[in-house]
Amino acid sequence: MSSVELVAVGTELLLGQLVDTNSSYVAAALAENGIDCYASHAVGDNRERIAALFREILDRADGAISTGGLGPTVDDLTKEAVADALGLALELDGDALAEIEGFFASIGRTMRENNRKQAYLPVGSVPLPNPHGTAPGFVAIRADGKFVACMPGVPREMKPMLAERLLPWLRSRFNVREGILTRVLHTVNIGESEIDHRIADLFASSENPKIAVLAHDYRCDVKIMAKAASSESARMAIAPLEEELRARLRGHIFGIDAMTLEGAVLAALDERGEPLAVAESRTGGRIAAAITAVPGASRRFLGGIVAYDNAVKQRQLGVPEETIERFGAVSEESALAMARGVRDRLHAQIGLATTGIAGPDGGSAEKPVGTLCVAIADPRGERAWTLHLRGDRAAIQARATTAALGLLWREIKIP
Ligand code: ATP
Ligand code: MG
Repeated sequence: MSSVELVAVGTELLLGQLVDTNSSYVAAALAENGIDCYASHAVGDNRERIAALFREILDRADGAISTGGLGPTVDDLTKEAVADALGLALELDGDALAEIEGFFASIGRTMRENNRKQAYLPVGSVPLPNPHGTAPGFVAIRADGKFVACMPGVPREMKPMLAERLLPWLRSRFNVREGILTRVLHTVNIGESEIDHRIADLFASSENPKIAVLAHDYRCDVKIMAKAASSESARMAIAPLEEELRARLRGHIFGIDAMTLEGAVLAALDERGEPLAVAESRTGGRIAAAITAVPGASRRFLGGIVAYDNAVKQRQLGVPEETIERFGAVSEESALAMARGVRDRLHAQIGLATTGIAGPDGGSAEKPVGTLCVAIADPRGERAWTLHLRGDRAAIQARATTAALGLLWREIKIP
C-alpha cells in the first residue's frame, strides 16, 4: 500500500505561536486526489531532528511531504536536512537560480547572496518552481525511489505549487487514476439535526457517492463526494443524489461549491434590482464587511450605519426614543425602526437591521445573552424575527451576521 506522511517544519509551530494550517490543507488535497496519508508531524528548525524524521518516515512510507524552512535565512534548514537524510549532495540548479533572479528583477529589488543559497537543490531533484516567492520547492528522490517533497511555508506560495506542480507529480508517481469529486450544497435557516432528519435514509444508503453534513456558524454544508475513474463519471454519480438532496432541502440551499452567503445575497439583490442599506447594532459592521468583500458589491450595496449607542439609533436612524423606552433597544420594534430608518435615510429599497445581546453581560431572564432581533423593511413590507444564538461573544457575533444574511436571502430571493 503506497502512502505519504506530512511534515510541518518550524519552531514557531512547537511553541504554539503558529497554527499549522498547511498540513490540513495538504491533507485535504491528498485525500481528494486519492493519495493515502497516514501520519502528520511537526518539527522545529533543527537540521538533525528534521533529517531523522525524514529517515524514519521513509522506513514506513513511500514519501514525505514538507512545508516550511526553505527560505534564505539561517533557520531555514529543510533542504540541508533532506540532503543529509537521503545521502544526496546539494548542487546549484541553473533553472532555479534563473527563476530567483527573475523574481527579484520582477519586484525591482537586489538579490542578496543568501538568496543564491536557495538555488541549491539535492542532486537529481525534480524542481517545483515558485512564481510567488523566492524559495523553489523540489522533490528529492532516494536511490530506492522513495522521496521527500518540500514546499515553502508561506501558504500563498505553497498552495499554487501544490496544485500546479506537486499534485500532478504525485498522481503520476502513485499511478492515481481515480479522483474524488466533491460538490458542496450550502444551506442556511435550517439546523444540522433537521437536515439529518430529512436525509437520514440517504445518508445511510450512500457509500459512493458519500454524504457528509458540516455545521458552521448558523449554517450547514452538505457535501457529496464521489470516487470515480473520471470526473465525468463522478459528475454522473453525483447528479441524481444532488437532485434528491435539493428536493428535500428546498428553500434552504443558497449556493454550491465556492458560493458564499453574502455572494448569494448580492446575486438576489441583483435579480431584484433593489439596493440594500444596513443598520447594525449587534453585528457591529460585520454584515457590511461581508457584503463588501464580494466583488461587484457596489452595484447593490449602498452602505450602512453602525448604530451601537441608543443615541445613534435615535439621531442617525430616527428610532423614536419612545420605542426604545417602551420595548427596549433589543426588540423587534426597535429593529424594525432601525431597518425603516436606514432604508429611508440611505435611500435604499431594502433596509436590514440587527440588534441583540452578545454578552457576557447584559442578559436578562426575558432577553438572555444571545438574543438577536433582525428586521427587514422593503417594498414588500416590514418584518422582524427574534432568534436565540449560542456561544461566546465572538461566536454570537459571527452567528448573528450569518443569521441576518440568511433571513435576508430567504426574504428577497426570487423563487
Ligand atoms: P520563507 O522563504 O518566507 O522564509 P519558508 O519556506 O522558509 O519561507 P518558513 O520560514 O518556515 O517558510 O515560514 C514562513 C511563514 O510561512 C511563517 O512565518 C508562517 O507565516 C507561514 N507558515 C509556515 N509554516 C506554516 C504552516 N505549517 N502553517 C501555516 N503557515 C505556515
Ligand atoms: Mg523562513
